[in-house]
Amino acid sequence: MTLRRSSLRALLTLLAALLLAGCSKPEPYSETIIAFGTLVDVTLYAESPAKADEALRMIESDLQYMHETWHPWKAGSLGRMNLLLPTGGWFSSGPSLLPIIGQSTTLSEQSDGLFNPAIGQLVDLWGFHGEDLPAGPPPEPEAIAALLDQAPRMSDLEIDGIRIRSRNPAVKLDFGAFAKGYGVDRVIERLVELGITDAIVNAGGDLRAIGRHGSRDWRVGIRDPRGQGVIASLEISGDESVFTSGNYERFFEWDGKRYHHIIDPRTGYPADDVLSVTVLHDSGAVADAAATALFVAGREDWPRIAARMGVQAVMVVDTDGGVALTPAMAERIRFESEDAPDPQIRPLP
Ligand code: ADP
Ligand code: MG
Repeated sequence: MTLRRSSLRALLTLLAALLLAGCSKPEPYSETIIAFGTLVDVTLYAESPAKADEALRMIESDLQYMHETWHPWKAGSLGRMNLLLPTGGWFSSGPSLLPIIGQSTTLSEQSDGLFNPAIGQLVDLWGFHGEDLPAGPPPEPEAIAALLDQAPRMSDLEIDGIRIRSRNPAVKLDFGAFAKGYGVDRVIERLVELGITDAIVNAGGDLRAIGRHGSRDWRVGIRDPRGQGVIASLEISGDESVFTSGNYERFFEWDGKRYHHIIDPRTGYPADDVLSVTVLHDSGAVADAAATALFVAGREDWPRIAARMGVQAVMVVDTDGGVALTPAMAERIRFESEDAPDPQIRPLP
């Protein structure tokens, strides 16, 4: 599902012409691809337009494959797994699901279960699983309590070779908080395999970048969760990921109260102590899982969970507009807004 294939072709032709005209300055190539319910912008430097086109076509097909495989309810590998898990019996997993289950299980345990991809039924109950946003009302408290009683966890899954079963019929896998990070990691891996050293893969503001943006570092903006615009920016080079979880992404309002899509697995209700969490980490998968987990942890407990998950650089904006940074994030971040916040520095335990 390419949005701009024809414009890409035009761009490649133009670039080829410029190169032939003796312009030796390398130019980036870009394409936008729809995946994980968002627009994924890929920008890369390549030695020739043909090499760039090869890489972009391969990524497009990888993203399409991941989208179909990890979709929690459409017919695909994960959709099939979610039909079979409640039976309690053994079945063969689609092979590409085992690594994503493995890494998310480790991260879920490290997060004390605050990042919990086994709560798919709870996400469904709130109505956040569909493409369209729910209109409300919020679910009945009894229905939420019934799901909490069943306490689905990643550790309920038993894996033997390529066979899998769930000891708990309430487990439904939803990688909505993780697939983007895990997928961006796979895309960067593919680019590195193809010999590309400078690229950025940006899935709606969540991204991983390698190398540099020509003669500069890559510069990324972080959306201000307190209103419009950008709160801060980060310069990244080498190989780093920046992921943000925010309450402004997907929500509905009911009786004057906002209900958004990040659910606290302990209460069954949307976590409501912070507005956004931004994590900078080498791995997109870790950054994505951690952004969600720290969002659920809230303004007091997030440093403990960050330390457990091996995450050093974090920014948290709380519901009173306060901004907290780890020392590692304070070294890197630059505030952009006119009324730049006065951040609190929170060392990790
Ligand atoms: P976004 O997708 O907006 O970047 P997240 O990465 O935080 O934000 O993912 C939120 C999605 O993850 C929800 O839409 C839901 O599908 C799922 N989810 C909600 N709460 C949790 C949780 N506590 N642990 C794991 N997944 C969750
Ligand atoms: Mg996440």
